[in-house]
Amino acid sequence: MREVSCYSCKSDNYFEWGAENGFKMVKCTNCGLLYVNPVPDEEEIDLAVKTGMHKGETVLNVVNSFSDQKINDYLEKLPLIYDKNSFGSTFSWLDIGCGYGEFIIALKSFAGGSGIYKGIEPNEIKKNFAVSKGLDVDFTDIKNFPDDHFDFVSMLNVYSHLPDPGIFFKEIRRILKKDGEILIQTGDAADLNRQDFPHTLYLPDHLSFASENIIRRLLENSGYSGISVRRFHNPGYPVMPAGLKIKKQLFEILRSIKRSDHKKRNYFINTDRDMWIRARKV
Ligand SMILES: [Zn+2]
Repeated sequence: MREVSCYSCKSDNYFEWGAENGFKMVKCTNCGLLYVNPVPDEEEIDLAVKTGMHKGETVLNVVNSFSDQKINDYLEKLPLIYDKNSFGSTFSWLDIGCGYGEFIIALKSFAGGSGIYKGIEPNEIKKNFAVSKGLDVDFTDIKNFPDDHFDFVSMLNVYSHLPDPGIFFKEIRRILKKDGEILIQTGDAADLNRQDFPHTLYLPDHLSFASENIIRRLLENSGYSGISVRRFHNPGYPVMPAGLKIKKQLFEILRSIKRSDHKKRNYFINTDRDMWIRARKV
């Protein structure tokens, strides 16, 4: 275990925000980042974790499976993130931590067949499944890709697993072509109180939870511009039927009374916390 500074602003000032599985999550008093501190040493060198593999998901213990619902969900979101002009006649796309390949399958359907798609996935079962679907997926260290190689690089549900996302963004920038784009999907959670967090923290598989401002600043400092953020309802919160916000608030109140923590919870929390962030290499 090793004490670390905030990767976002380098401050060492924090307070303890939460704890789980014997790990502490602290909140930076300067920029607000939530991060595991101290961290296990292995996190720095474990390539699987760096590319988004949950430690619980060992080769023999896969906790989820290929999901058609995920593909449908991506197909609903993609037209709200990109338009058809976003893609040239041919382009190359790398999806880091691609899992069973659902995002690549959705992309092929949305962006067309002129793209060349590659996925990186450390989990053997997921990787083999994706290959059996005809996808080009292996477990390559991104350090092995040449400079200026891809038009697009995506990382969905990877950010919170990274020991230092700024370093990772710079490495992705290296393998992107000029004007190439990164796509990051992660939750906006740094401002939450522990009791408003929608699920367990999964420490230390998750190493940090950021905010839009923190990620914007990291991207700018890593050589990106043209940053745009599209937000969606975070599935960790109850689904709110359109125009029925009050119903959702009542649900939350009843649920928290049942949990005997109604005095502490924030019932009016904005649940559009699923962030999809685009940025361009400059
Ligand atoms: Zn900070």
